[in-house]
Amino acid sequence: MHIHIDQARITQEIEALAAISEVEPPAVTRIVFSEQDLRARKWLNERLSEAGLAVRVDAVGNTFAQWEGSRPDLPAVATGSHIDAIPYAGKFDGVVGVLGGLEAIRSLKASGFRPIRSIELIHFTSEEPTRFGVGCLGSRLLSGTLSSEADIHLRDADGKTLQTVRTAAGFSGDLASVRLPTGFYSAFVELHIEQGPILEREKTTIGIVTEIAAPASFLITLEGQGGHAGATLMPGRRDALCAASELTLAIEQLAQISGAIDTVATVGTCEVHPGAINSIPSRVKLGVDLRDIDGNRRDRILEEIRHAANDITRRRQVEIQFEMLNADAPATSSPRVLKAIRAAVEKTSVSLRELVSRAYHDSLFMARIAPTAMIFIPCRDGISHRPDEFADISDIAAGVEVLARTVADLSREGD
Ligand SMILES: [Zn+2]
Repeated sequence: MHIHIDQARITQEIEALAAISEVEPPAVTRIVFSEQDLRARKWLNERLSEAGLAVRVDAVGNTFAQWEGSRPDLPAVATGSHIDAIPYAGKFDGVVGVLGGLEAIRSLKASGFRPIRSIELIHFTSEEPTRFGVGCLGSRLLSGTLSSEADIHLRDADGKTLQTVRTAAGFSGDLASVRLPTGFYSAFVELHIEQGPILEREKTTIGIVTEIAAPASFLITLEGQGGHAGATLMPGRRDALCAASELTLAIEQLAQISGAIDTVATVGTCEVHPGAINSIPSRVKLGVDLRDIDGNRRDRILEEIRHAANDITRRRQVEIQFEMLNADAPATSSPRVLKAIRAAVEKTSVSLRELVSRAYHDSLFMARIAPTAMIFIPCRDGISHRPDEFADISDIAAGVEVLARTVADLSREGD
């Protein structure tokens, strides 16, 4: 099968989509259900229709573009990613998987290939947590990881519920209808930039993702006793920030000594109350992100963090409270999908290596309802979520060709 990837067309489409943004180029900001997000969706849907795909949209705005196979009764093969972008992000995160998926389908059509199973391109709603505080909103709902009560519980910074916001954006219907049963898709593959430095450093074109790490994120509130910074002497102080500082270092150390390089822990936020230079901090809230590819090891470290927190706060006479925001299970890629990707890389004659995805993706949730794997391509200096995020068109084209050959292979399978 000869596959021609139209590099000029993908480049032009990536630029066109990047121009639909709330901020000046090269930065891209596209928050879910904002005016720019709706414009981008309209632009994308036009491209999907031009490619002859049948477009369906669910109640939360997940968009499915189908190329019907000769056996539409069989579960389809799917690919896809996201096009929303955090404030001042770049052009490639997510977009490469959506526009690359579209180009993969177009190139297969042009090659004369005809699928047995239908092939679907999915554009997931709100992979980024910017608006509602939850990442992978669309794929969580699709996989049943998030219940339809999210409609009322999730609110944006203006206090508007998900239900209000999505309805105003034109996506109505029961949120429970978004969920797809296990087996709905026979396989799912996502093409994405690595967002890390390994492929570029090793001059490798394709990364095959064998595992996706998953974060546990939680808030720790420490409540001590405030007071005048001058009038309160050091003995007997119950300074919440000093306790939080000790705990932050303990969290760093527990991740360092977990026994695996794959454990990472970050205290990313720290709110200090009352936050005055001449006042002893009475309350501190830490936001913690803990990740691993091994869910059991991650949960063990989480327990150790709780122990350390209890020790520190008892010694310092500070009250403590934990609030889990989420603790998603890591995902292991499907051997069958990995095999198809390896075969596709061989035919494309590019270099490959296996990788772990340390960022999370819609694939983490798709893996719960379908055999799933990911294809990574290099990005410059491993940089992502910044305006200078960059992926070379030749790498993008190689990734698209591997994706095209992979979905073609998977769509050939009978039942
Ligand atoms: Zn992404």
